[in-house]
Amino acid sequence: VAFTSVNLNDVVNSALFMVTTQFENHGIEVQKSLDENLPFITADKYKLEQVLLNLLSNAKYALDDKAKKTTESNYRKRIKINTWQDRDNIYLSVWDNGTGIPKNYVEKIFDPFFTTKSEEKGTGLGLSISYGFIKDLLGDIRVESEPGEYTLFEISIPKEK
Ligand code: ADP
Ligand code: MG
Repeated sequence: VAFTSVNLNDVVNSALFMVTTQFENHGIEVQKSLDENLPFITADKYKLEQVLLNLLSNAKYALDDKAKKTTESNYRKRIKINTWQDRDNIYLSVWDNGTGIPKNYVEKIFDPFFTTKSEEKGTGLGLSISYGFIKDLLGDIRVESEPGEYTLFEISIPKEK
């Protein structure tokens, strides 16, 4: 097992580093706000990185898709990433102002093989695998979306006692 002491902020930064060039080429603005005092968690950092990369690639797809369809002439693709904590948990959120998720899909997106993308572009496995992994850490992932406006994924992971 590859569990070590992990700082979630480092995982955010390394995932963002991997997508820098691609995001720049697609005109995506990333705004991040990380809690400097985030406590470490015991986890597999490569799996956490996969979770982050999947959220970022889903956001990118939704942003490109919205840019194709929107009539707003001043539309700007934006992603916001935050980490913070309360007494019991640490939190990570990824927000984008892409297509949003239709109300009737929201409850399905964590199901294995649920995808709205073509076969070359999506397998529908990213969120279900991410969900399983966060559950292994006794955490949770929730989603909030306003179709046409934004999508917000929020992950919580319990602090170690
Ligand atoms: P895939 O990316 O292969 O389709 P995922 O499990 O990562 O599979 O996502 C499942 C579906 O959830 C996507 O096909 C898409 O319809 C929806 N989705 C996920 N993230 C977003 C997002 N940020 N904005 C809009 N829709 C999203
Ligand atoms: Mg995906």
